[in-house]
Amino acid sequence: MNPTAAIGQPGDPAAVRSVTFDDVAAIYVVDGVLTMRPETFFPETPRQAWDHLCTTAGELVMSAGGLLVRIAGTTVLIDAGVGTATKSFAFGGVDCGSMLEVLDSLEVRPEDIDVLAVTHLHFDHAGWAFADGARTFPNARYAFSAQEWAPHAAGHLGEGEVAPRHVISQLASGSADFELFDDGDEIVPGVRALVTPGHTPGHTSYVITSHTGRRLVAFGDAFHSSTQVTHPDWMSIADTDATAVIATRHRLLDRLSEPDTFGFGCHFGDQPFGRVVADASGQVTWEPIPSAVLAPPPR
Ligand SMILES: [Zn+2]
Repeated sequence: MNPTAAIGQPGDPAAVRSVTFDDVAAIYVVDGVLTMRPETFFPETPRQAWDHLCTTAGELVMSAGGLLVRIAGTTVLIDAGVGTATKSFAFGGVDCGSMLEVLDSLEVRPEDIDVLAVTHLHFDHAGWAFADGARTFPNARYAFSAQEWAPHAAGHLGEGEVAPRHVISQLASGSADFELFDDGDEIVPGVRALVTPGHTPGHTSYVITSHTGRRLVAFGDAFHSSTQVTHPDWMSIADTDATAVIATRHRLLDRLSEPDTFGFGCHFGDQPFGRVVADASGQVTWEPIPSAVLAPPPR
C-alpha cells in the first residue's frame, strides 16, 4: 500500500518524503538535523519574523541530506548531506550521519548512484562525497559547476566553518575524478543545471523535467527558508554575494511560478516540496504540496 501523502510542519525536522510525477521519483534522503539561531544566521532580519518556525529553545530546525532522483533509468543524488557529525557550530548545531542508512532502507546501495551532483561545496551539501578518504559512491560521476570550483582551483581549500575540508582537499589532490559543467548543461537526460550564484560563486539548482514537461526545481541554498520566498532580500550570514543572490532568487521565483513547476528546498523544515503562489496583491509565498512519508525523521 502506498503511504498517504501529507503536508508536514515548517518547524519540524524533515521526514523522508517522496514525490512522483510521470516518469520521475524524487525522495528526500535525510541525513539529519541542522539547528540555527536566527539572530546569528539571519542577523539583519527582524527576529520576530522567525518565531513561528522556532522551537521553544529559539532555534530554527533545518534538515540536511540529498534528493534522490530516479529518471529515465538513472539514479541521481543531488547533494550529499553532512556526513557523521554531532556538534555545535557558530550558527547553531548539527546532528547528522543517517543518509546511508536512509538509502539502505530504500534498498539503494552507494554503488547504485550514477551521478552525485552537488548544488555547492558546503559542508551540509557535499559532506558524504568522501568518507575515510574514499568515494562514498564508487560508481558515481561527481559533478558541480565550473564556477563553483574556480576558487578552489585557485588554491583556496575552503575557509571557516562552512567548507567541507575533507571533500575539498580530496578533490584538489587530483586523486578523485570529477566533472565541471556550465549553466544549462544536461547532467543526465531529464536533469539540467541552472547555475544560480550568490550563496556561493557557482551555486547550482537542478531542473528535473518529466517526459510530459512537468518540472521539479531543486534550488539548494538559494533559499534557506520558505520565509525568503516572500522576502527574497533577506540574507543569511552564509550568502557570499548579496546582489547576486537577490537576482538569483528573483530568477528562481520566475521559474517556480511557471505552470507545472514545483520546488524542493532541503532546509525548509518538514515542508521541502512546494509551489510558489501569488495572492491578489502579488505577494508570493511557499505553498507546500503533499508528499508521501516513507520514514520519520532519522534524527
Ligand atoms: Zn545548506
